Amino acid sequence: MANEDCLFCRIVAMEFPADIVFEDDQVIAFRDINPKAPVHILLIPRDHITSAASLTEANGPMLGRMFAVAAQLARDEGIARSGFRLTTNSGAGAGQSVPHLHFHLMGGRQMGWPPG
Ligand code: AMP
Repeated sequence: MANEDCLFCRIVAMEFPADIVFEDDQVIAFRDINPKAPVHILLIPRDHITSAASLTEANGPMLGRMFAVAAQLARDEGIARSGFRLTTNSGAGAGQSVPHLHFHLMGGRQMGWPPG
């Protein structure tokens, strides 16, 4: 279900432009507008889910698809061997700025740990 106030729902609805690199019936992936790594792609469900805090077991098939797409994109972008990070921020305290579930696929540089 779309949320009309949600930026990423507007990208799903093609009402707002994005550099889309993959889409199917459940998942859309597009390049982050403010990349923090040479490769920085966001993967989102088409349906509005606010964050990882809202996930239930019923979301399993969508999440399976999301992770398979992320792995394929990592191979396509040439970061599967060198290493990549696949993360989601849930809630303001974790730095989530867009309240629509998204996974950051980042690679192409050495990552530090732990994240700030
Ligand atoms: P987070 O801070 O974890 O919620 O991540 C939100 C991400 O969305 C940030 O990395 C932003 O740079 C990115 N972002 C915000 N608006 C857009 C947009 N219109 N197109 C692509 N990425 C965006």
